Amino acid sequence: MAILAPDNIANKRMAICRACPHLIQAQILGVPLPGDKPQCAICLCFMKKKTKIASMTCPIDKWGKYPPNKKP
Ligand code: SF4
Repeated sequence: MAILAPDNIANKRMAICRACPHLIQAQILGVPLPGDKPQCAICLCFMKKKTKIASMTCPIDKWGKYPPNKKP
């Protein structure tokens, strides 16, 4: 089983997150971190990392794990 998602899958996930209203700039104690540090306000994950891990999923089902579950 793949640990990392292929680049095209990670890029598609990141594009969905970038268009999502729940994506925020990561911050500590209300102070935004410098640079491009996108974080999900629901799961609090750092999305540049999370989108690259094959088994990860969006908490509100905007994208799923890789490879997707096969239907019976
Ligand atoms: S993981 Fe889901 S809810 Fe979070 S920013 Fe990405 S698309 Fe939005």
